[in-house]
Amino acid sequence: MGSEEILHRVFGYPAFRGMQHDIIEHVAGGGNALVLMPTGGGKSLCYQIPALMRDGVAVVVSPLIALMQDQVAALRELGVPAAYLNSTLTAQEAATVESQVRRGELKLLYVAPERLLTERCLALLHQARLGLIAIDEAHCVSQWGHDFRPEYIGLGRLADEFPQVPRIALTATADDLTRQEIVTRLMLENARPFVTSFDRPNIRYNIVEKQDPNAQLLRFIRDGGHDGESGIVYCTARNRTEEVAAFLQEEGFNARAYHAGLTSAERTEVQNAFQREDGMIVVATVAFGMGIDKPDVRFVAHVDLPKSIEGYYQETGRAGRDGLPAEVWMAYGLADVVQQRRFIEKSDASEEFKRVQNGKLDAMLALCEATDCRRVRLLGYFGEMYRGACGNCDNCLSPPQTIDGTIMVQKFLSAVYRCSKASGHAFGAGHIIDVLRGQLTDKVSANGHQLLPVFGIGADVSQTRWRSVVRQLSIAGYIHIDVERFQTISLTGAARPILKGEQTVRLRETVEREPGPRTRRRN
Ligand code: ADP
Ligand code: ZN
Repeated sequence: MGSEEILHRVFGYPAFRGMQHDIIEHVAGGGNALVLMPTGGGKSLCYQIPALMRDGVAVVVSPLIALMQDQVAALRELGVPAAYLNSTLTAQEAATVESQVRRGELKLLYVAPERLLTERCLALLHQARLGLIAIDEAHCVSQWGHDFRPEYIGLGRLADEFPQVPRIALTATADDLTRQEIVTRLMLENARPFVTSFDRPNIRYNIVEKQDPNAQLLRFIRDGGHDGESGIVYCTARNRTEEVAAFLQEEGFNARAYHAGLTSAERTEVQNAFQREDGMIVVATVAFGMGIDKPDVRFVAHVDLPKSIEGYYQETGRAGRDGLPAEVWMAYGLADVVQQRRFIEKSDASEEFKRVQNGKLDAMLALCEATDCRRVRLLGYFGEMYRGACGNCDNCLSPPQTIDGTIMVQKFLSAVYRCSKASGHAFGAGHIIDVLRGQLTDKVSANGHQLLPVFGIGADVSQTRWRSVVRQLSIAGYIHIDVERFQTISLTGAARPILKGEQTVRLRETVEREPGPRTRRRN
């Protein structure tokens, strides 16, 4: 059977998505491949269909036992002979699977990496006819990533053991460094890369400032038409998940809390209920999500600011896997920022690591404060150019109010200039804002900055508002924040025309904005 026929007959789908067809033909034809595709993009079919097209058994390396079991169960339901080998099997069960492999009765065999690399398993595969090797979640080989699994390093050996067998590595982690690590460590130098767009066009993005998060969340769910739909609400703290779940229950929703403080039986129970039932809301910490494959999650809400855009994108990516319209919403506040900065500062991590974490938080905040298309910014963060505005995010649908901020910005830029000129080195945002607001701190008096003409000229503006100005100026490229050197600020060439009064600047109207989500789904 050809790939299209398998897609229709076995999987029951009408058409391939994105690059699936190209990838499948390449791999089925014996080529190696490196597939970068976002969560929900449809990676599984990229090895499952070639597995059915080629002779012999396809070995799928997967790090997550639960996911392995789900996939095998789903394949069997479709009539595909599939099995797994992992630590949950008894010796007898494993022996049964092994003899099935030897007899050539299986088309797909899922194996945990540490098991695959045992001499016993390698010998088994040499006895069998091996058609394909698929390495899922290939970014686990990256030592710098957050999912590093040492067992993955050994998988490079498969290239030597089975030189004739095509190999496909798959991941949803996009950045260049990870990609290079996958190629070298898994010996995929000759693999053809397939880089799919990370865009999720059916997801609508909304980001608002946090005022009364419970009430705002409720409005998002009700006004957005999500009443009775399945959704996930992410919170930072365990006790908040309990509070928000209780609040939603009082409002008549089928809501459950999920966090690492529950027993594993309780967690499994919530997960299964969510997977099975319609219209359930799970209020969770980030512990929830790995291994959840529910296609019809219609909304994902963040009532606290995520730590990084990577995390945010992964969490929001759980919405709308079926390709139908889905909506995501986030409320962020200054308290979140302060708490996260403190958390980073207090950790035992190296200075370098802290700088990286602060940089990620800055990027997340830049996304929150952006006045232009969220999708353009999100994809831009992953190195992807999205042309035009998407028409499916809050900023596109109802452009935020802006005000003429020229005078405020001139004050700020002059303060940056004057302070660094007076002391011969650059300062961070905190100090510049103290000077503008006329705060006589130790650092101000030690530098004599209370004598500068800019001292106190911005006292009428709150510190929060100044912080927001700083972020907007950084995003717009008028200032440079040096994350390598204590987040010190310097002016860029673009600042000159503003200081000289030749150019005006518009700022996002932040704090004073009306509470609540600004967009509604237009059905
Ligand atoms: P990933 O592993 O990339 O996160 P999956 O392989 O789990 O994504 O696929 C995500 C969802 O999309 C699944 O529910 C899957 O059945 C569905 N899917 C994948 N390819 C297609 C297709 N061509 N047509 C329709 N649905 C698809
Ligand atoms: Zn947009």
